[in-house]
Amino acid sequence: MVKQIAIIGGGIIGATTAFYLSDLQGNENVQVTLFDDDTGQATKAASGIISPWLSKRRNKRWYALAKRGAELYPELVKAAQLSDRAYQQSGTIVTRKSHDDLLALYHEAEIKIQHTSAMGNVELLDADEVQRRMPLLTNAPEGIFVSGGARIDGANFVTELLTRAEQNNVQVSHQRVSLTADGSLETHDGPRKFDRVIIATGAWMHETLQPLGLNIKVRPQKGQLIDITINMPNRWKDMPVMMPESMSDIIPFNGGKLVIGATHENDEGFDLTPKAAARKQLFKNAQAFIDNLSESQITDMRVGTRAYTDDFAPFFGVVPMLPNFLIGGGLGSSGLTTGPIIGYFLAQAILGGPLDDWSQYTKPVSRYIV
Ligand SMILES: Cc1cc2nc3c(=O)[nH]c(=O)nc-3n(C[C@H](O)[C@H](O)[C@H](O)COP(=O)(O)OP(=O)(O)OC[C@H]3O[C@@H](n4cnc5c(N)ncnc54)[C@H](O)[C@@H]3O)c2cc1C
Repeated sequence: MVKQIAIIGGGIIGATTAFYLSDLQGNENVQVTLFDDDTGQATKAASGIISPWLSKRRNKRWYALAKRGAELYPELVKAAQLSDRAYQQSGTIVTRKSHDDLLALYHEAEIKIQHTSAMGNVELLDADEVQRRMPLLTNAPEGIFVSGGARIDGANFVTELLTRAEQNNVQVSHQRVSLTADGSLETHDGPRKFDRVIIATGAWMHETLQPLGLNIKVRPQKGQLIDITINMPNRWKDMPVMMPESMSDIIPFNGGKLVIGATHENDEGFDLTPKAAARKQLFKNAQAFIDNLSESQITDMRVGTRAYTDDFAPFFGVVPMLPNFLIGGGLGSSGLTTGPIIGYFLAQAILGGPLDDWSQYTKPVSRYIV
C-alpha cells in the first residue's frame, strides 16, 4: 500500500528529503506532501560555501557528517539536474592571519586529502597568486586553495530541487501547518493524518514539537549578509570563494554579484529586520580586501534565522517514543553542507533503503529534548 508522507519545512533538509523520496528506489510506495511557510528560511537567505575540510571545528561527528555532505553534492546536483545558478564547484581559498598558522593548515590539508577525494587538490598560494585567481581583490592575502570547494545559492538551490520533486509527483503546499496532540497535521483544509511525518522546521522546531509534549533545545540565531554588485568582466568567470580567518566570507557569483557574509546574532530571536550596523560592518569587511568599493554598490541585504543547539551540533533521527516521526535540524552556520546528507538519510529510512550507522554522525535525538 502507498504510504502518505508529510514533510514540514522546505529548507535544505525538507527539500532534499522530498527530492530523494521522489527519486530513490522504493519511491513508488510513497506519496509525499511538503508543507512550507517560507518565512525567515535560513536556506533562502544563505549564499553559501561548501568547504568543511579545513574548518577549525573539532567535533568528530560534525566533521564526519559535513564530509559526507560535501561528497554528496556533486551526485545530488547531477541526479536533480540542478543548474550552475544553484551550485558551482568554484574552489575555495582559506586564509589565516599568521603565516605559520597557514603552513600548519596546509600540512593538515595535505594529510586530509589522502583520504578525502572530494577535496580535489590543495595548493598553497602566495598573495600574488590569490590576486591572480580573484582579480577583484586589491589587498589579497596568501591562502590555501581547495579545488573541491563549492558555492551554492540557497534560494535557487531549493527552488530547483522542489521543482524536480514536483515533477516527480511530490505535492508542495505553501502554508504553515501545526501538529496536534494525536500526531495529525492541522492544515488550511482541516486535519490530515499521515503514515510518517518528517520535521525539518529549522529554528521553529521548538514550536513545532510542543503540541506533542516535547521541548526541544533549539534556539534561533539571526544571520545577515549583503550583496554588492560589481563590474565583473567575463574573463573573471568562475572565481573561487574566499574564506578569510575571522572575517566575512567573499562569495563571487558570475554576473557580478558579490555576497559578503554573514553575521551571527544570538539575541535577536526571529527578528528579520536588516540592521544598519550589520550592513556597515559587512561592507567594511569587504573593503579590507577590495578597497575601491562604494556603498552605493550594495544592492541587497538578506536576513535568515539559523537553528542552534547547545552543543552547536546538528542532529537527526527518529523522535523518541514516536517511531513515525523523523526529525533533522540544529544545522547552525554550516547547514548548507550538512542538510542534504541528512535529507538523504531520512529518505532512505522511510524507503527502507540501506542505512549507515547514524551514531557516527549524530548524538541521539533524545539528547536535544528536555
Ligand atoms: C545569512 C546566512 C548565511 C549562511 N551561510 C552558510 C554557508 O556559507 N554555508 C553553510 O553550510 N551554511 C550556511 N548557513 C546556514 C544554513 O543556511 C542553514 O543551517 C540551513 O539552511 C538550515 O536549513 P533547514 O532546512 O534546517 O532550515 P530552514 O532553511 O530555515 O528551513 C525551515 C523551513 O521550515 C519552515 N517552517 C517552520 N515551521 C513551519 C510550519 N509549522 N509549517 C510549515 N513550514 C514551517 C520555515 O518557514 C522554513 O522555510 C547560512 C545561514 C544564514 C542565515
